[in-house]
This record gives sequence, C-alpha cells and structure tokens, in this order.
Amino acid sequence: MPTFKIGFEFEAYCEVCGAGMCGEVHTIDSSARRGVPIIRISPCPVCEEARADEIAFLEKRSREKSERITELENEIQTLKRDLYYAQLPI
Ligand SMILES: [Zn+2]
Repeated sequence: MPTFKIGFEFEAYCEVCGAGMCGEVHTIDSSARRGVPIIRISPCPVCEEARADEIAFLEKRSREKSERITELENEIQTLKRDLYYAQLPI
C-alpha cells in the first residue's frame, strides 16, 4: 500500500523556564516496534544549570551550618567547664 510521509515543523519550549528547546529535540521518523514517530527531548540546559547552581548553594549553606554547629558545641563545652569551676567550693 503506498504511503505519504508528511513532515511538519514545530517549536519546543521549556515548560519551567520558557527557554527555546529546539536544539534539544531529536526526531525519529518511526520506532522499530510501533511504527510511530518519536520525539526525544534532552533536559533543558538552562534549568539544568540553575539546578546545579542551587545544589552548589545548598551544599555551601549545609557546610556553613555544620561549621556553626561545631562552633556552638565547642562553646557549650567551654561554658560547662567554666560553670563546673565556678561551682567548686572556695
Ligand atoms: Zn528550562
């Protein structure tokens, strides 16, 4: 049975940030198993970069908070020691 291949153009944009995604879209005329066109879309590079930046920011904040916890734990130990010596009989 004769068939027509009908091509059409379309544009793609990231739903999250609105960046153009045409460079991230790859089309395949048909899949081997189902015979239907396939569109493969890579993750949005703008969102991926923003995500990497947010992860780096959160990792930095986590390190800073961990350092602060260590400082406070050391301060508590110092206060407990000072309290102990202050309560010794004169
Ligand atoms: Zn995006």
